Formats: sequence, C-alpha cells, structure tokens
Amino acid sequence: MTLEPATVVETLASVLSGPAALHEPTITGNEWDYVKDCLDTGWVSTAGGYVDRFEKMLADFTGVGHAVATVTGTAALHAALVLAGVKADDEVIVPALTFVGTANAVTYLGAVPHFADAEERTLGLDPAKLEAHLDDIAEITDGICRNKVTGRRIAACVPVHTFGHPVDLDPLAVVCEKFNLVLVEDAAESLGSYYNGRHTGNHGRLSVLSFNGNKTVTTGGGGAILTNDADLAAKAKHLTTTAKVAHKWEYSHDIAGFNYRLPNINAALGCAQMEQLSDFLEGKRRLAQAYEAAFANIDGVRFFTEPPFAKSNYWLNVLLLDPDMAALRDDILAATNDSDFMTRPAWTPLHRLPMFTDCPKMGLTVAEDLYARLINIPSSPGLAEAING
Ligand SMILES: *Cc1c(COP(=O)(O)O)cnc(C)c1O
Repeated sequence: MTLEPATVVETLASVLSGPAALHEPTITGNEWDYVKDCLDTGWVSTAGGYVDRFEKMLADFTGVGHAVATVTGTAALHAALVLAGVKADDEVIVPALTFVGTANAVTYLGAVPHFADAEERTLGLDPAKLEAHLDDIAEITDGICRNKVTGRRIAACVPVHTFGHPVDLDPLAVVCEKFNLVLVEDAAESLGSYYNGRHTGNHGRLSVLSFNGNKTVTTGGGGAILTNDADLAAKAKHLTTTAKVAHKWEYSHDIAGFNYRLPNINAALGCAQMEQLSDFLEGKRRLAQAYEAAFANIDGVRFFTEPPFAKSNYWLNVLLLDPDMAALRDDILAATNDSDFMTRPAWTPLHRLPMFTDCPKMGLTVAEDLYARLINIPSSPGLAEAING
C-alpha cells in the first residue's frame, strides 16, 4: 500500500475503536479516596503526608536515591540547574527538538541555551555530533569549558528522552566528562523508560520528571528533582521550599529560595497514579505493538520503536514519514484530526522561536528533518483496553 492521508486514518481506525485524544490521564485507582482524604483532613497545601509518600514512591520506582516533588517539571528544571551550578551568562547545551520548557528553564537563570542536534536512532541528542561540535568551538582552561566564539562558559548539558525514548546516555556521559559539563537529564517524558536496564534519570548528577496532565503519570501539574546525592537532595528540598531554616516559630530564610513545593492534594493524586504505573506502562506497550503491526506493511511511513539499548515507556507514539513523503505531513495531520484521531507535529525546533533565534547552535539538520517528518499519534494508556482485533 502506498501512503495517502486516508491510509493513515484507516490504519489508526484499524487499531483504535473510536475517537482518541493524544494523551489523556487514566483516573481509575485511589485518586478519589486520597484526594478526599486531603479535603476531609484539611491537609490540602504545603504540609501533609502525601508529598513524602509520593517522593518515596518515585525514588523506589526509578531506583534513584532521592526525589523532591515540585509544582511543575519546568520548576524542577529551574531548581536543578541552580543546583548544578549554572550561573547567569553561562551556556547550557539543550536539544533543538524538545518542549520549550527545557530551554525556558535555562533562561530563568540568565543563562543561554546552546542548541544541539538530534539523531534519528533515538530522536534525542547525538553524542558524536555534540563531541565534534565542542571539539570545534570549545576550549578547556583550568577545568572550565569555554565557547571560543562567544567567550561564555558552557556549564551543563540537558539531554531529553524524547517522547519517552532514552537518549544514548553512555557516550553522552563521556562527552560531558571530557568537556566538564554537568549532566542534568530532562526525564520529564520518560518515567518508566530504561537505558541498558537502568531507569532514565539515574545517570545524570540531577534529573527531572514532569507530572503534567498529558504525562504518563499526572498530579494535575507537578514535577520532581531526582538525585543520588543526599547533600544535593537536601539542598533541592531547601531551595524549593523557600529556604526556610527550621525553627519553632521564627521565619528565617538563608537564601532567596523558590516556592516550588508540590501541594499535598496534588501529591495525593500522584500516589494513586503511581500505584497504577505498571499497568499504564503495560497498556502503552500493547498499544505501541498494535501500531507497529498495523503500520508495518505501509510504504512511506514507519512506526518509531525503542532503540536497541532501551526499554521505552512509549509516552507519545511516533510515526516517521520517509523523507520523500514529508510533504504529506500537514495533509495527514488535517485528515486524522478531521476524523477525531488527535495527532500533532513535533515541537517547532526551538532555535526558530523568536526568543531563541540568536542563541548559539550547531548544525541542526537532523532536528529540522525529524520535525518535518514526525507525527505524534494517540497514546493514552486507556486506549489499550479497546484495541481492535
Ligand atoms: C513536560 C515537559 C517538561 C516539563 O513540563 P511541565 O509542564 O512544566 O511539567 C520539561 N521538558 C520536557 C521535555 C517535557 O516534555
């Protein structure tokens, strides 16, 4: 079969039993009970037991030593970059192909995103291309990596596990080591994704998760900082809770902290969601397998599957059009949305957005190419219940 917009609609219809959103939460566990408990007891805000419980569940599930819950994933990134030592006028390596929050967090510090290219194998940062670029433009003096072109320090690297597919972390960690960059994983999309058997977010000095409404697990809005360093975890808690010094009654704060603490009522939702995470992941994997089979015999498009070293959560499922079919992308988006199958293109590459056009960058041909050919298709865990056939 050759590719036409109608072919994609028919193929989606062969898997899905009816209209489908891109990613909806599944609220089928103890959400009502735990939130009611918050309301009944009055513990709805900055204190209460669900925050500690949620943080413990995150640490247990990911295998990372410590988790600190925050109001959003972007807030978690902001605080994590502070803790990574990023300062005003530093540069931070981020992928061009990511959600805008990754780069926004860098700018909150007065630092500058430095955009890096993707590789098709993972949809994430290309370690070899990054190394070649840094060999070209960076020099290390007294342990500090400096961009020879801009004169700024390059302080950190924030890879993203794009749509839940792990970036190639081992070679990336080697590049970060070589150039003395702090590795901060943006694992916002990859709760339940593993790199060589180890959960994502367990490789950088710090990493972050997001629990926005469209993520695999939701708290309404929320995020978390993960780290294996107990000292950094304590600092993360302090920094995100107004840096209040413990005292019976005095209001004393020792740095200008953030009010980024996740409310108890949101954490209650999160606890109920975490109890179902294994089921969500299983459902998402079954849906991905059904898509893979359904699209296998259609020329001109392929269903993107996890890289060989990875077990992915398939957060947002990806169709990749063949290069000579890229011109069909918008017609496919129109036809599928008209048929009530919600589909979306990838994010506009960030170096094209007005606030980022002057930022330093390498050649971004793969990010541009992926953007031109990529379509996200319905991915909610609940859709697995009703797979046709
Ligand atoms: C969702 C997401 C975030 C954080 O988003 P919030 O809505 O602030 O929780 C950060 N980076 C990436 C790549 C994301 O997908």
